[in-house]
Amino acid sequence: MYLFKRVSDLQRYISSQREQQKNIGFVPTMGALHEGHLTLIERSKSENDITVCSIFVNPTQFNDKKDLDKYPRTTANDISLLTQKGTEVLFLPPPIEVYPKGLDTKLDLKMGQLDKVLEGEFRPGHFEGMAQVVKRLLDIVNPHHLYMGQKDYQQLTIVRSMIKQLDLPVKLVMCPIKREADGLAMSSRNVRLKPDIRRQATILSQTLEKAKAQIGKISPEDIQKEAMTAFDIPDFKPEYFRIVDGITLLPVEDASQSEEIVACTAVWAGEVRLIDNMILK
Ligand code: AMP
Repeated sequence: MYLFKRVSDLQRYISSQREQQKNIGFVPTMGALHEGHLTLIERSKSENDITVCSIFVNPTQFNDKKDLDKYPRTTANDISLLTQKGTEVLFLPPPIEVYPKGLDTKLDLKMGQLDKVLEGEFRPGHFEGMAQVVKRLLDIVNPHHLYMGQKDYQQLTIVRSMIKQLDLPVKLVMCPIKREADGLAMSSRNVRLKPDIRRQATILSQTLEKAKAQIGKISPEDIQKEAMTAFDIPDFKPEYFRIVDGITLLPVEDASQSEEIVACTAVWAGEVRLIDNMILK
Protein backbone atom coordinates (compact mmCIF):
# COMPACT_ATOMS: atom_id res chain seq x y z
CA MET A 1 0.00 0.00 0.00
CA TYR A 2 1.26 3.48 -0.86
CA LEU A 3 0.89 6.05 1.90
CA PHE A 4 0.77 9.70 0.83
CA LYS A 5 0.73 12.63 3.20
CA ARG A 6 1.16 15.40 0.64
CA VAL A 7 -1.46 16.44 -1.89
CA SER A 8 1.12 16.98 -4.65
CA ASP A 9 2.54 13.45 -4.26
CA LEU A 10 -0.89 11.82 -4.29
CA GLN A 11 -1.97 13.86 -7.32
CA ARG A 12 1.13 12.85 -9.28
CA TYR A 13 0.36 9.20 -8.56
CA ILE A 14 -3.37 9.52 -9.46
CA SER A 15 -2.58 11.35 -12.73
CA SER A 16 -0.23 8.59 -13.80
CA GLN A 17 -2.86 5.94 -12.99
CA ARG A 18 -5.55 7.84 -14.88
CA GLU A 19 -3.22 8.15 -17.89
CA GLN A 20 -3.10 4.35 -17.87
CA GLN A 21 -6.94 4.28 -17.99
CA LYS A 22 -7.16 2.99 -14.40
CA ASN A 23 -10.43 3.51 -12.52
CA ILE A 24 -10.13 5.17 -9.13
CA GLY A 25 -12.48 4.42 -6.20
CA PHE A 26 -12.40 6.68 -3.16
CA VAL A 27 -13.39 5.94 0.45
CA PRO A 28 -13.12 9.01 2.73
CA THR A 29 -12.99 8.22 6.46
CA MET A 30 -12.00 9.73 9.78
CA GLY A 31 -10.08 6.60 10.77
CA ALA A 32 -10.58 4.35 13.81
CA LEU A 33 -11.50 1.85 11.15
CA HIS A 34 -13.86 -1.06 11.77
CA GLU A 35 -15.52 -3.70 9.62
CA GLY A 36 -18.13 -1.20 8.44
CA HIS A 37 -15.43 0.93 6.81
CA LEU A 38 -13.85 -2.19 5.38
CA THR A 39 -17.05 -3.13 3.52
CA LEU A 40 -16.67 0.18 1.64
CA ILE A 41 -13.07 -0.68 0.82
CA GLU A 42 -14.13 -4.14 -0.43
CA ARG A 43 -16.87 -2.66 -2.60
CA SER A 44 -14.48 -0.12 -4.07
CA LYS A 45 -11.86 -2.78 -4.72
CA SER A 46 -14.42 -4.93 -6.56
CA GLU A 47 -15.42 -2.02 -8.83
CA ASN A 48 -12.13 -0.16 -9.44
CA ASP A 49 -8.48 -0.72 -10.32
CA ILE A 50 -7.19 1.52 -7.53
CA THR A 51 -8.83 2.18 -4.17
CA VAL A 52 -7.82 5.31 -2.28
CA CYS A 53 -8.82 5.53 1.37
CA SER A 54 -8.34 8.82 3.19
CA ILE A 55 -8.06 9.23 6.94
CA PHE A 56 -8.62 12.77 8.08
CA VAL A 57 -10.39 13.85 11.27
CA ASN A 58 -11.88 17.00 9.81
CA PRO A 59 -11.96 19.78 12.40
CA THR A 60 -14.49 21.91 10.46
CA GLN A 61 -17.31 19.36 10.87
CA PHE A 62 -17.09 19.13 14.67
CA ASN A 63 -19.42 21.65 16.26
CA ASP A 64 -18.27 20.40 19.68
CA LYS A 65 -14.53 20.78 20.35
CA LYS A 66 -14.69 18.07 23.09
CA ASP A 67 -16.08 15.60 20.54
CA LEU A 68 -13.15 16.37 18.23
CA ASP A 69 -10.62 15.88 21.03
CA LYS A 70 -12.24 12.61 22.11
CA TYR A 71 -12.53 11.19 18.59
CA PRO A 72 -10.60 7.88 18.61
CA ARG A 73 -7.32 7.85 16.68
CA THR A 74 -5.85 4.43 15.90
CA THR A 75 -3.62 5.06 12.89
CA ALA A 76 -1.26 2.09 13.27
CA ASN A 77 -4.17 -0.34 13.45
CA ASP A 78 -5.92 1.41 10.54
CA ILE A 79 -2.81 1.00 8.38
CA SER A 80 -2.65 -2.67 9.26
CA LEU A 81 -6.36 -3.26 8.41
CA LEU A 82 -6.10 -1.39 5.11
CA THR A 83 -2.98 -3.31 4.15
CA GLN A 84 -4.66 -6.65 4.94
CA LYS A 85 -7.59 -5.67 2.69
CA GLY A 86 -5.22 -4.90 -0.18
CA THR A 87 -6.02 -1.18 -0.32
CA GLU A 88 -3.76 0.39 -2.93
CA VAL A 89 -3.47 3.88 -1.44
CA LEU A 90 -3.87 5.58 1.92
CA PHE A 91 -4.03 9.36 1.97
CA LEU A 92 -3.19 10.60 5.46
CA PRO A 93 -2.81 14.36 5.21
CA PRO A 94 -2.02 16.82 7.99
CA PRO A 95 -4.62 19.64 8.25
CA ILE A 96 -2.33 22.13 6.45
CA GLU A 97 -2.46 19.98 3.29
CA VAL A 98 -6.27 19.89 3.30
CA TYR A 99 -6.66 23.54 4.27
CA PRO A 100 -3.54 25.36 3.09
CA LYS A 101 -3.25 29.03 3.95
CA GLY A 102 -4.80 31.24 1.29
CA LEU A 103 -6.97 28.55 -0.32
CA ASP A 104 -10.69 29.28 -0.05
CA THR A 105 -12.39 25.91 0.49
CA LYS A 106 -15.72 27.30 1.72
CA LEU A 107 -18.73 26.34 -0.37
CA ASP A 108 -21.95 28.18 -1.09
CA LEU A 109 -24.44 25.37 -1.60
CA LYS A 110 -28.21 25.64 -1.63
CA MET A 111 -29.28 22.78 0.59
CA GLY A 112 -32.81 23.96 1.44
CA GLN A 113 -34.02 21.84 4.35
CA LEU A 114 -31.53 18.99 3.75
CA ASP A 115 -28.89 20.27 6.16
CA LYS A 116 -31.30 21.85 8.64
CA VAL A 117 -33.43 18.87 9.71
CA LEU A 118 -32.42 15.84 11.84
CA GLU A 119 -28.66 16.09 12.56
CA GLY A 120 -28.72 19.68 11.29
CA GLU A 121 -30.94 20.69 14.19
CA PHE A 122 -28.59 19.23 16.79
CA ARG A 123 -25.19 19.78 15.14
CA PRO A 124 -25.21 23.29 13.65
CA GLY A 125 -22.48 23.78 11.05
CA HIS A 126 -21.66 20.05 10.88
CA PHE A 127 -22.83 19.48 7.31
CA GLU A 128 -21.23 22.67 6.04
CA GLY A 129 -17.88 21.38 7.33
CA MET A 130 -18.55 17.89 6.02
CA ALA A 131 -19.43 19.11 2.50
CA GLN A 132 -16.37 21.39 2.55
CA VAL A 133 -13.99 18.51 3.29
CA VAL A 134 -15.63 16.05 0.89
CA LYS A 135 -15.42 18.60 -1.94
CA ARG A 136 -11.79 19.38 -1.13
CA LEU A 137 -10.92 15.67 -0.98
CA LEU A 138 -12.74 15.02 -4.27
CA ASP A 139 -10.74 17.84 -5.88
CA ILE A 140 -7.52 16.27 -4.60
CA VAL A 141 -8.24 12.59 -5.33
CA ASN A 142 -10.28 13.05 -8.52
CA PRO A 143 -11.93 9.61 -8.28
CA HIS A 144 -14.40 7.95 -10.67
CA HIS A 145 -16.43 6.51 -7.79
CA LEU A 146 -17.09 7.76 -4.26
CA TYR A 147 -18.13 5.21 -1.62
CA MET A 148 -20.17 6.35 1.37
CA GLY A 149 -22.19 4.51 4.00
CA GLN A 150 -25.94 4.52 4.51
CA LYS A 151 -24.98 4.73 8.21
CA ASP A 152 -24.71 8.50 7.67
CA TYR A 153 -27.86 8.74 5.58
CA GLN A 154 -28.25 12.51 5.76
CA GLN A 155 -24.57 13.06 4.96
CA LEU A 156 -24.96 10.94 1.85
CA THR A 157 -28.09 12.85 0.79
CA ILE A 158 -26.22 16.14 1.14
CA VAL A 159 -23.19 14.86 -0.80
CA ARG A 160 -25.56 13.64 -3.54
CA SER A 161 -27.07 17.12 -3.73
CA MET A 162 -23.61 18.74 -3.77
CA ILE A 163 -22.48 16.50 -6.66
CA LYS A 164 -25.58 17.50 -8.59
CA GLN A 165 -25.35 21.22 -7.83
CA LEU A 166 -21.67 21.45 -8.74
CA ASP A 167 -21.94 18.89 -11.56
CA LEU A 168 -18.97 16.96 -10.18
CA PRO A 169 -17.65 14.15 -12.40
CA VAL A 170 -17.97 11.38 -9.81
CA LYS A 171 -20.49 8.59 -9.19
CA LEU A 172 -21.70 8.22 -5.60
CA VAL A 173 -22.21 4.67 -4.34
CA MET A 174 -24.24 4.04 -1.16
CA CYS A 175 -23.08 1.05 0.89
CA PRO A 176 -25.37 -0.70 3.44
CA ILE A 177 -24.90 -0.44 7.21
CA LYS A 178 -22.68 -3.09 8.73
CA ARG A 179 -23.95 -4.16 12.16
CA GLU A 180 -22.58 -6.09 15.12
CA ALA A 181 -24.11 -9.54 15.70
CA ASP A 182 -26.60 -8.02 18.17
CA GLY A 183 -27.69 -5.32 15.71
CA LEU A 184 -25.74 -2.27 16.91
CA ALA A 185 -24.52 -0.29 13.88
CA MET A 186 -20.74 -0.34 13.78
CA SER A 187 -19.22 3.02 14.62
CA SER A 188 -15.83 4.35 15.65
CA ARG A 189 -17.57 5.81 18.69
CA ASN A 190 -18.76 2.38 19.98
CA VAL A 191 -15.42 1.74 21.72
CA ARG A 192 -16.28 4.56 24.11
CA LEU A 193 -19.50 2.86 25.33
CA LYS A 194 -19.31 1.49 28.88
CA PRO A 195 -20.06 -2.28 28.98
CA ASP A 196 -23.57 -2.06 30.51
CA ILE A 197 -24.56 0.77 28.18
CA ARG A 198 -23.09 -1.12 25.20
CA ARG A 199 -25.35 -4.09 26.05
CA GLN A 200 -28.44 -1.88 26.14
CA ALA A 201 -27.51 0.00 22.96
CA THR A 202 -29.23 -2.70 20.91
CA ILE A 203 -32.41 -0.75 21.66
CA LEU A 204 -31.63 1.50 18.64
CA SER A 205 -31.64 -1.24 16.01
CA GLN A 206 -34.50 -3.10 17.72
CA THR A 207 -36.64 0.02 17.65
CA LEU A 208 -35.79 0.64 13.99
CA GLU A 209 -36.71 -2.97 13.14
CA LYS A 210 -39.99 -2.54 14.95
CA ALA A 211 -40.70 0.63 12.96
CA LYS A 212 -40.06 -1.32 9.76
CA ALA A 213 -42.62 -3.92 10.80
CA GLN A 214 -45.14 -1.22 11.76
CA ILE A 215 -44.91 1.10 8.75
CA GLY A 216 -48.13 1.11 6.76
CA LYS A 217 -49.98 -0.49 9.68
CA ILE A 218 -49.96 2.39 12.16
CA SER A 219 -49.25 6.08 11.51
CA PRO A 220 -45.63 7.34 11.35
CA GLU A 221 -46.51 9.69 14.20
CA ASP A 222 -47.53 6.78 16.46
CA ILE A 223 -44.41 4.81 15.48
CA GLN A 224 -42.27 7.80 16.46
CA LYS A 225 -44.03 8.20 19.79
CA GLU A 226 -43.58 4.50 20.61
CA ALA A 227 -39.91 4.69 19.67
CA MET A 228 -39.24 7.70 21.91
CA THR A 229 -40.93 5.81 24.77
CA ALA A 230 -38.75 2.75 24.11
CA PHE A 231 -35.65 4.95 24.59
CA ASP A 232 -36.89 6.14 27.96
CA ILE A 233 -34.35 4.12 29.96
CA PRO A 234 -31.70 5.25 32.46
CA ASP A 235 -28.51 6.65 30.86
CA PHE A 236 -30.21 6.94 27.44
CA LYS A 237 -31.38 10.26 26.07
CA PRO A 238 -32.99 10.30 22.64
CA GLU A 239 -32.61 13.45 20.55
CA TYR A 240 -34.93 12.36 17.78
CA PHE A 241 -36.60 9.41 16.09
CA ARG A 242 -38.13 10.57 12.84
CA ILE A 243 -39.73 8.92 9.88
CA VAL A 244 -38.84 10.93 6.81
CA ASP A 245 -38.95 10.86 3.05
CA GLY A 246 -35.75 9.23 1.82
CA ILE A 247 -35.06 11.97 -0.75
CA THR A 248 -36.29 15.21 0.84
CA LEU A 249 -35.78 14.17 4.51
CA LEU A 250 -39.09 15.87 5.28
CA PRO A 251 -41.51 14.21 7.76
CA VAL A 252 -43.81 11.56 6.34
CA GLU A 253 -47.35 11.86 7.61
CA ASP A 254 -48.84 9.05 5.56
CA ALA A 255 -46.69 6.10 4.49
CA SER A 256 -48.54 5.74 1.18
CA GLN A 257 -47.40 9.23 0.09
CA SER A 258 -43.66 8.50 -0.18
CA GLU A 259 -41.85 6.07 -2.47
CA GLU A 260 -38.86 5.87 -0.15
CA ILE A 261 -39.14 6.12 3.63
CA VAL A 262 -36.33 6.13 6.19
CA ALA A 263 -36.41 6.14 9.98
CA CYS A 264 -33.51 8.14 11.44
CA THR A 265 -32.53 8.37 15.07
CA ALA A 266 -29.93 9.94 17.34
CA VAL A 267 -29.62 8.87 20.95
CA TRP A 268 -27.15 9.70 23.70
CA ALA A 269 -26.02 6.41 25.24
CA GLY A 270 -24.23 7.60 28.36
CA GLU A 271 -21.53 9.98 27.11
CA VAL A 272 -21.66 8.75 23.53
CA ARG A 273 -23.96 10.06 20.83
CA LEU A 274 -25.13 7.27 18.54
CA ILE A 275 -26.92 7.63 15.21
CA ASP A 276 -28.66 4.93 13.24
CA ASN A 277 -31.27 4.58 10.52
CA MET A 278 -33.23 2.03 8.57
CA ILE A 279 -34.88 2.15 5.17
CA LEU A 280 -38.51 1.26 5.89
CA LYS A 281 -39.77 1.36 2.31
P1 AMP B 1 -16.45 7.96 9.31
O1 AMP B 1 -15.05 7.51 9.47
O2 AMP B 1 -17.30 7.70 10.49
O3 AMP B 1 -16.55 9.35 8.77
O4 AMP B 1 -17.06 7.01 8.19
C1 AMP B 1 -16.48 6.89 6.93
C2 AMP B 1 -17.45 6.23 6.00
O5 AMP B 1 -17.77 4.93 6.49
C3 AMP B 1 -18.78 6.99 5.88
O6 AMP B 1 -19.22 6.99 4.52
C4 AMP B 1 -19.69 6.20 6.77
O7 AMP B 1 -21.05 6.30 6.41
C5 AMP B 1 -19.17 4.79 6.57
N1 AMP B 1 -19.54 3.93 7.69
C6 AMP B 1 -19.40 4.21 9.02
N2 AMP B 1 -19.92 3.22 9.75
C7 AMP B 1 -20.41 2.30 8.89
C8 AMP B 1 -21.09 1.04 9.05
N3 AMP B 1 -21.38 0.55 10.24
N4 AMP B 1 -21.43 0.37 7.93
C9 AMP B 1 -21.15 0.87 6.70
N5 AMP B 1 -20.53 2.05 6.49
C10 AMP B 1 -20.17 2.75 7.57
